Amino acid sequence: MQRYTFYEGSLLSVADLKDMAYCPVIPWIKANTGYVEPPTPSMEAGRAAVDAEFKERVAEELGLPRPYRLEVPIKSRRLGLSGVVDVVAGDGPFYVVEVKAYKRPRRRWRHFRLQLLAYALLVMDTMGPVREAILYMGGDAYKVPVNERTIEETLRALERLKKIVSSEDPPPVTPARAKCAYCGYNKVCPARPYLAAGAGWPRHAIPSTYPRESQRGHS
Ligand code: SF4
Repeated sequence: MQRYTFYEGSLLSVADLKDMAYCPVIPWIKANTGYVEPPTPSMEAGRAAVDAEFKERVAEELGLPRPYRLEVPIKSRRLGLSGVVDVVAGDGPFYVVEVKAYKRPRRRWRHFRLQLLAYALLVMDTMGPVREAILYMGGDAYKVPVNERTIEETLRALERLKKIVSSEDPPPVTPARAKCAYCGYNKVCPARPYLAAGAGWPRHAIPSTYPRESQRGHS
């Protein structure tokens, strides 16, 4: 297995990894401008619907062994990662569950899969082995394998995230019209001038035109 560097800066969050899986420019925007997408009405409704009680009912519905630990905050300095896991069930090996209020088509949950794998990684690093990772979305439950391949994939994603947030330049992407239209960062995205053209941008074109946090000053 490849060796990974330990992270010496502040901890990244699993949400950053999830955002990166949607578009790698998002964690760069968050790290370099401090802008965070305001919650949409559907996000707020989803959060309100999925409270601790709901998560406990999901664990019961899935037939997971007790005890249930709900909304578990986990930090790993070794990984440089933190997050709040919806459900950690059993005495170990553990069951890890990420709960979403609404169903999604399979092509639209790649970022949730990475989020779940990152939670499994945090549990493995701080609590012990993981037996199963389950993504629950509006009544549908999908098991995501936790094995050497998927853990390696998650560690690679984490390494990539660390590079993105510590880079002065945004990662090059090819903006996709449909995806960008729904993105909560499209108003501040450095790719904005390129969105209409539907083309990628040359890496050197952005930094000179995009104000960075260090250039804005702090209040
Ligand atoms: S607007 Fe498009 S390119 Fe910019 S962050 Fe969002 S998805 Fe990525």
